[in-house]
Amino acid sequence: MDAYTNIHQLHHLIETKTAAKLPGPYKVGVDLGTADIVLVVIDSKGTPVAGSMRWASVVKDGLVVDFRGATTIVEELKSEVEKLLGVTLDKGATAIPPGTLGRNAAACGHVIAGAGLEPICQVDEPVAAAKALNIEHGIVVDIGGGTTGIAVLKNGNLVFTADEPTGGTHISLVLAGAYSIPFEEAEILKRNEKQHQKIISVIFPVIEKMATVVKKMLIGHEEYNNYPVYVVGGTAYLQNFEREFSKAFGREVHVPPHPLLVTPLGIAMFG
Ligand code: ATP
Repeated sequence: MDAYTNIHQLHHLIETKTAAKLPGPYKVGVDLGTADIVLVVIDSKGTPVAGSMRWASVVKDGLVVDFRGATTIVEELKSEVEKLLGVTLDKGATAIPPGTLGRNAAACGHVIAGAGLEPICQVDEPVAAAKALNIEHGIVVDIGGGTTGIAVLKNGNLVFTADEPTGGTHISLVLAGAYSIPFEEAEILKRNEKQHQKIISVIFPVIEKMATVVKKMLIGHEEYNNYPVYVVGGTAYLQNFEREFSKAFGREVHVPPHPLLVTPLGIAMFG
């Protein structure tokens, strides 16, 4: 299956709460995000077999802040997919924003271990996304809830990563301020496609700022100027995101289908 077919398949499995009838052994990936937690199971060829996700606030800007809450959610997601598959999952991979070090980096592993998954690998989030997209040469920008990370791949090898604390959470904060509403209400407003037209004047400047942040990360790396750029992460769901980001970035960028699921799928590939 090609990369985009895999992403569509994963989306279908999560939406329908079903499992694909494919034999094991399976690989497991857990994405502990600022806005949501996603658990993905794939077969040995990388085809999605099952997945489950939950909106959560247990991570802030890439750092686990509610260890117990995170562990409980991973336990629940694991149990859901185990029921669908009829097997017990015992190992998994996790990911962190580039540059996360020490105890903060170790925390993700402890969370999945607490949920009964032996942590076997921890990758940088945009590197996982690049794996899911099967990129040989290219730049992956992962705009999550709290962080924006990039990975530059040359001949399939990682040559550069960077990360900044900006993401969808900041768009919601700006919306909350502009409309004088609570953050949670701003999140709901932002994720409602029917409301996007109403909020574009508020969110476009934030998208522009994000593109500027990514552009700055690439200063001094002009040799990658002709590499294709892929933007993943939940923020890329926003209407006309691709067009507005491209305009501010000064180059055309591509948003794959279901951009929120790309990194979780890639993490499972390292599982
Ligand atoms: P991080 O990697 O920064 O820790 P994360 O893994 O939670 O965060 P993602 O799951 O890629 O990040 O994306 C979450 C962000 O995407 C949140 O800010 C959320 O509000 C936003 N988002 C999700 N769905 C939509 C949507 N349909 N429209 C707009 N924004 C969305």
